[in-house]
Amino acid sequence: MGATPLEYRLKALIRLGGPLSIADYMAICLGDPEHGYYMARDPFGANGDFVTAPEVSQMFGELVGLWAADIWVQAGRPSPFSLVEIGPGRGTLMLDALRACRIVPGFMAAARVLMVETSPRLAAIQQDRLSRAGHNATWATSTTGIPDGPAIILANEFFDALPVRQFVRVQGIWRERVVGLDADDNLAFGIGPAVLPTTDVPAHLRSADNGSILELAPTAAAIAEQLALRIARSGLALLAIDYGYTETAVGDSFQAVRAHSPVDPLARPGEADLTALVNFEVLHRAATKAGAGVSGPIEQGDFLLNLGLAERAGRLGADKDRATREGIEADVHRLVAAEEMGSLFKAIAFSKPGLLPAGFGR
Ligand code: SAH
Repeated sequence: MGATPLEYRLKALIRLGGPLSIADYMAICLGDPEHGYYMARDPFGANGDFVTAPEVSQMFGELVGLWAADIWVQAGRPSPFSLVEIGPGRGTLMLDALRACRIVPGFMAAARVLMVETSPRLAAIQQDRLSRAGHNATWATSTTGIPDGPAIILANEFFDALPVRQFVRVQGIWRERVVGLDADDNLAFGIGPAVLPTTDVPAHLRSADNGSILELAPTAAAIAEQLALRIARSGLALLAIDYGYTETAVGDSFQAVRAHSPVDPLARPGEADLTALVNFEVLHRAATKAGAGVSGPIEQGDFLLNLGLAERAGRLGADKDRATREGIEADVHRLVAAEEMGSLFKAIAFSKPGLLPAGFGR
């Protein structure tokens, strides 16, 4: 198998400018306008590379929609308000959310739907599916395109796609992990010149063993802070659901997935999804710093059960045949079981002080 077009480009970049940080490598592999992973393909579903919660079951988007409607009612039904999804993939979550919210009087008339998506190809799929369902929406390519005023912002598996930097502890110093070229001209991990000041390392990790890896998420932190500031100022709330951990720790979570299996992140760049686990401590800190209320993180299984997943499944299956009911039960298991998506995935909400996002079990 020959090299991918992006592999040629990455090698040329490295020959010219030296090794790339993990963050730059990740950003190019996912976002290169021509050959980036999200730019060139529709990665979702059984025939794709991975399955996300909205693609597992319509109940996920329905419950998230009703979560949004609850916040909107608590806030006094502002009209208009922006209903925003960041990184909407195939648009399934928004479609299911909007269908569920039709029963909430006034919600649909007040909502201005905005989809924030970098991939023109995925935006076209979203546009096609939303307009077929009779919904008006607009698109933006960055979170800075969200208009002022009250907004409810949804983000499922968005933050894991943002680039992370990695630092390796070498002889007591944290040095940046990079992607360079080995003696055979293949892409290879290495150690670069950049050093992380000890003051940027959490105190409990300063004496980590040599070889330990510390991940920083500067892009996630910046976007979370920008969004939290606007939530604190103009309302209403943000809900982020993703796979990740709640406290900063050492570990390498940079990973590649292709056709539902883990693959080498340096093999066939542009053809595999690259992600890192989300550090929810970073999101929590950004929201607190911005003066927004924070709920969670809480495990996805608990969050969905708190929102009434079991009851919703019962109603959905009530008039169906046995095979359909078993299918619905299997979907519930996939979303909430600890060994499936229930524990690794977590939910966090930012909200305007005074609002109480549902599902966090208070
Ligand atoms: N939320 C969807 C898709 C998750 S995949 C689901 O749960 O099925 C990640 C999504 O984020 C894709 O739509 C990808 O194109 C988009 N994306 C990646 N980086 C982005 C960025 N910086 N800004 C906006 N969207 C981005």
